[in-house]
Amino acid sequence: MSLHAEKPMFRQYLELKGQVPDAVLFFRMGDFYELFFEDARLAAGLLDLTLTARMKDSPEPVPMAGVPHHAVKSYITSLIELGHKVAIAEQVEDPRQAKGIVRRAITRVVSPGLAFDTDDLAPREPCWLAGLVVQEGVWGLALLDVSTGDLRVDELADQASALEELLRAEVREIVWPEGLDVEFGLEGLLPDVRPTAVDPGWFEVEAARKDLCDRLEVADLTGFGCENLGPSLGAAAAVVAYAERATHCRLDHLRGIRSHQLTGFMVMDRATRRNLEILRPLVGQGRKGTLLGLMDRTRTSGGGRLLREWLTWPLLDREAIGHRLDAVEALVESRSLREEMRSHLASVADVERIAGKLAQGTAHPRDLAALCRSLEAIPETFEAVLRVPALSGLVPGDLCGDVAVDIGTWLVPEPPLLITEGGLVPPGVDEELDELVALARGGRGTLAALEARERESTGIPSLKVRYNKVFGYFIEVTRAQLHKVPESYLRKQTLTNSERYITPELKELEEKVLGADERRKALEQERFLELRGRLAPSVPRLQAIATAIAELDVYAGFADLAVDLRYVRPVVDGSRDLVLRAARHPVVECQDLGESFVPNDLVLRPKDRRVVILTGPNMSGKSTAMRQVALIALMAQIGSYVPADSARVGICDRIFTRVGASDDLASGRSTFMVEMSETANILHHATDRSLVILDEIGRGTSTYDGLSIAWAVAEDLHDRIKARTLFATHYHELLELAETRPGVHNLSVSVSEWGERILFLRRLKEGGASRSYGVQCARLAGMPVAVVERAKKLLVHLEKNASDAPSPQLGLFSREEKSEEEPPPDPLRSTLAEIVPDSLSPREALVLLYRLKEVADEEG
Ligand code: ATP
Repeated sequence: MSLHAEKPMFRQYLELKGQVPDAVLFFRMGDFYELFFEDARLAAGLLDLTLTARMKDSPEPVPMAGVPHHAVKSYITSLIELGHKVAIAEQVEDPRQAKGIVRRAITRVVSPGLAFDTDDLAPREPCWLAGLVVQEGVWGLALLDVSTGDLRVDELADQASALEELLRAEVREIVWPEGLDVEFGLEGLLPDVRPTAVDPGWFEVEAARKDLCDRLEVADLTGFGCENLGPSLGAAAAVVAYAERATHCRLDHLRGIRSHQLTGFMVMDRATRRNLEILRPLVGQGRKGTLLGLMDRTRTSGGGRLLREWLTWPLLDREAIGHRLDAVEALVESRSLREEMRSHLASVADVERIAGKLAQGTAHPRDLAALCRSLEAIPETFEAVLRVPALSGLVPGDLCGDVAVDIGTWLVPEPPLLITEGGLVPPGVDEELDELVALARGGRGTLAALEARERESTGIPSLKVRYNKVFGYFIEVTRAQLHKVPESYLRKQTLTNSERYITPELKELEEKVLGADERRKALEQERFLELRGRLAPSVPRLQAIATAIAELDVYAGFADLAVDLRYVRPVVDGSRDLVLRAARHPVVECQDLGESFVPNDLVLRPKDRRVVILTGPNMSGKSTAMRQVALIALMAQIGSYVPADSARVGICDRIFTRVGASDDLASGRSTFMVEMSETANILHHATDRSLVILDEIGRGTSTYDGLSIAWAVAEDLHDRIKARTLFATHYHELLELAETRPGVHNLSVSVSEWGERILFLRRLKEGGASRSYGVQCARLAGMPVAVVERAKKLLVHLEKNASDAPSPQLGLFSREEKSEEEPPPDPLRSTLAEIVPDSLSPREALVLLYRLKEVADEEG
């Protein structure tokens, strides 16, 4: 390093790199960003850049890789997607004026939680940056979305809940005090989340409280319901400070701080969210096959984000759910209102994120034009809404008409992307600007006149006045006409077929035209920046509009879905019942099944049906029936209509699902261990208000072990926890539970048999199923015929012997299989076989008798 440090440029580089040791440093040099040392090696590998070297001849050449400045964004985005952090060091003085080495400074740090450009974020997803700290056993959590200025805090009593919450929010990056990860062994517990350790002082609670009050311009945080919080305020201040330092920008759009207490929302653990395929499918990417994909009929990005949020945090409060349902009902009932609103919403831009960019000074002309168009469309959207009592409360009093007028006055409706090239301000609003435009235009007219005059005087009809960036305006004459060129022309450039000239008159005119043009562009840029600056204080008003729009958009989407797919308004109450008539699985019913979806009734209630044991053949529809119950409860609690003929949902505090088997090899847990720890989690956390879906427990171990575990789990859910439970199983023994336990009820999915085939009827009926038809299913699945035939024989054999077995149909395989194949030698029989009674003496007979008794005893 010593040699490098001697070089002033590297000294500067290393000093900057020291400020951001955990980031890949993009170091601006002229038209390129250069990366050095390890960063160069890393980026060359990941981004396919050519790795070269600087100081090639020294004993320590420095690895180097570069990207052109205009393409830097895509390289940075790729690195961020791969989980890296990037710092950008710009030249902060004009290189022509620099004495010695150009001054550089870090102007921006980009990381997974702090996008380089808001426009690159997925429009319908939030981008959470989290802060986490532990103080006196309390886990303080803050979530910040810089793109919208949304800040939330929560305090949790234990590590597991805090981690669960971070995973639920799908945070991209987390800031914690140095050493926290080691102290609490957090390593590996938050995969896909980029951690950054900062000075623990950033989390100091009293300083944080003061800082937040200053920012939000309040005397205390009571108005936000956050006054009594502690560590989470520290986390909030830390995460805001981190974001401001990284973006070199004040977060003036923080709209407040929201106490986002988990106790206010339905809990779904990671396994449940995954199993129910709420936001992402179990296999594959995207939204296809998910509840979100099905339900998202929103017309605006903000609406899309809000729906995602509601699905992530379903409500528990009956009244709040009722308000949402009222709003949806109003839109279901009025088709004209619904359709009118949805068509207006389609032309509303992402006002929330544009407001965020306005606050940070990064909004470009097209953002403001889109904002203006949206603000013009909004009064009409709201006008109809105001007439509907269930919706009118949503409409903000201030619709920012002044903002629309200001933008409409100072910005053309379809401006260019760049602010430096002019074409931003419409004519007639700024006298000075109009004069410059006229001057430039007038100059151009004079140029045309000059061209005509020169053609005339020289007699060269093909003479042209042209322009390029290097020479400005010039006169071009083709080679054939050169003899006519007057002496007063000054030659500037020779081309193959022509010569280029200038004249003093032309240059004088040029100065006028170009000068006016330059001044005009500069003035337009100035006017745009003034406009942007003027609008910044309107950010909170714009955010209020954005919130209302997003909410209306979600309601309109729910209503559209409900009408389209014949959903009903659920009755949501404080009971512990769940009563569904003709319920359907929202996602499966929309899939191309090759058969029509069969609706089913299902009742869960504390007294006599709190645990339903569901049996039935493989593939008959048990999982589908159970999941549809969970999904309907979830949909009801976000305020949506549900796929059923009628539904009454007693609010569920938590939904748990244990479905299928999956290895979690990354954390070193086998299939069975995953299953057991998920089940343990349910038994520890479920309450009598919870809904528990168990799709087969205890399959990954020996039959008796599995059955015993399944049995004990069902008993515990019934006797102690009293949760509403749906338990699908192929252990038909569990049906006996209904005989001894009042709250256990048996249901099965019916099939009809004809010949060797089974026909799935998909209908739930009272009572348990007697068989699983696994062999028939194996045949359906294309198992080789010989194997299926062999299995059928074994099954007949096993079922015949089942009555002798200590428990029916279990655990007989090893024993019986051997007897089919090759019975093991029986020592008693073989000994007897060897005896020839007539040849025995009385004494030999007696000895033999003792011997046989011995063998029999050994066997027994
Ligand atoms: P296994 O015991 O093998 O896990 P299962 O009984 O849980 O099977 P499901 O996975 O629920 O069966 O259903 C199998 C398939 O049957 C589904 O993928 C779907 O295509 C179809 N199906 C399920 N329920 C219905 C229904 N009510 N109407 C129509 N088709 C259905």
